[in-house]
Amino acid sequence: KRERGKMFIEKFQVESPNVKYTETEIQSVYNYETTELVHENRNGSYQWVVKPKSVQYEFKTDTRVPKLGVMLVGWGGNNGSTLTGGIIANREGISWATKDKVQQANYFGSLTQASAIRVGSYNGEEIYAPFKSLLPMVNPDEIVFGGWDISDMNLADAMARARVLDIDLQKQLRPYMESMVPLPGIYDPDFIAANQDSRANNVIKGTKKEQVQQVIKDIREFKEKTKVDRVVVLWTANTERYSNIVVGLNDTTENLLAAIDRNESEISPSTLYALACIMEEIPFINGSPQNTFVPGLIDLAIQRNSLIGGDDFKSGQTKMKSVLVDFLVGAGIKPTSIVSYNHLGNNDGMNLSAPQTFRSKEISKSNVVDDMVSSNAILYEPGEHPDHVVVIKYVPYVADSKRAMDEYTSEIFLGGTNTIVMHNTCEDSLLAAPIILDLVLLAELSTRIQLKAEGEGKFHSFHPVATILSYLTKAPLVSQKNKWIH
Ligand code: NAD
Repeated sequence: KRERGKMFIEKFQVESPNVKYTETEIQSVYNYETTELVHENRNGSYQWVVKPKSVQYEFKTDTRVPKLGVMLVGWGGNNGSTLTGGIIANREGISWATKDKVQQANYFGSLTQASAIRVGSYNGEEIYAPFKSLLPMVNPDEIVFGGWDISDMNLADAMARARVLDIDLQKQLRPYMESMVPLPGIYDPDFIAANQDSRANNVIKGTKKEQVQQVIKDIREFKEKTKVDRVVVLWTANTERYSNIVVGLNDTTENLLAAIDRNESEISPSTLYALACIMEEIPFINGSPQNTFVPGLIDLAIQRNSLIGGDDFKSGQTKMKSVLVDFLVGAGIKPTSIVSYNHLGNNDGMNLSAPQTFRSKEISKSNVVDDMVSSNAILYEPGEHPDHVVVIKYVPYVADSKRAMDEYTSEIFLGGTNTIVMHNTCEDSLLAAPIILDLVLLAELSTRIQLKAEGEGKFHSFHPVATILSYLTKAPLVSQKNKWIH
């Protein structure tokens, strides 16, 4: 296929002494060229010395793509219903009339389904291939969806409540979605806004321990019923308030498990779902900002080698912010004030109108520029930081069509200032749904990859704290050596 002078290919094979295809695996050898710094005494004074270093990695990717089940926590929400409807629309090849044209279902906004990668050149022309052709990945058409919601509304009605998809599309999707009803969810009014109470008519009863056991049972039954080989669970439910991290409560695995046995009130629903998944060795991704992954839970995920990833989808304003601030700081320009206003009118906005849940979002939105700022000591003194203010207001009329307005003021040459103002209409769930798809596909793929660095005896999986997924999140959960940070 020829596109604007560039060639586009759908598929390719690699022929290289470093790559071997077997019946069930792709085996590859990769030399990672990096550098190592040493601080050495040379001729009486200490100097930094940069030494090039090459580390050889071996990778093995299992090419047997499983049948995948995805269970969403908050399935009946705007994101959950939009993603489910969007996948069905693609699978069934649905097209619908808008006031402008006949629209075909697509996966725009998905890294795995709609982005392309340069793979080489042919007759002097650059050749691109779909991202999804790099390694065998689950086809979204084949995913079976399920999940939990504290509201018992079926997915067709939930899609109508969300007011995201065009009406002609909704009409065509309705027959596929009417029979999809979320399982009862773990509800604790202390962790989300009081205004969500009227939605909560579908809840798991019992103690925290019983709730975890119920979620485990739900996952097992879903697997059994749908005959899927693997399950990934993703939290796209309401933003919770932060949990307090308390010594003796959730700081170690032992204390966390004991606290659940005692039915301690400070253990959040999201932590309970995540715990159930880690016990079952099911990947769990957190798409909201709260600190679901308390220290005791992360330690358990590491012990059980069960994949976790998060936090908070990077979909609209923060995606722009991470690109723009990286660009400015990288260009030697000094952002000194970043002020972000948001107004939105969906249920997420209503939930965020409570101070405690807003605080979770404020923290995760504010963290986005930290690494960029600390990377450049020419611009910033130690400890210096731009003024960074985030405001979120609930305005029902704009519904899911969130508005984000940002003012970036930077110091430029010789004390000058430069101000950039951006207005971003973030069709919230239409941006988030393809990211959710990428997160679950990449999480599944990650579990099929084994690697071994030079000097390591045997192959092992990626670190259970799945850094690779954090490209798609605002507040990356990453492991650092044997420590972890939010
Ligand atoms: P939503 O309010 O429409 O959906 C959340 C759903 O979760 C609701 O149906 C609610 O009933 C359900 N729920 C609440 N608590 C639950 C629990 N304990 N167990 C099971 N279900 C529960 O919100 P949304 O617009 O779909 O967004 C979902 C989450 O994703 C929010 O936390 C939001 O902050 C986060 N997020 C969204 C975006 C985006 O849409 N662009 C970006 C980043 C993060």
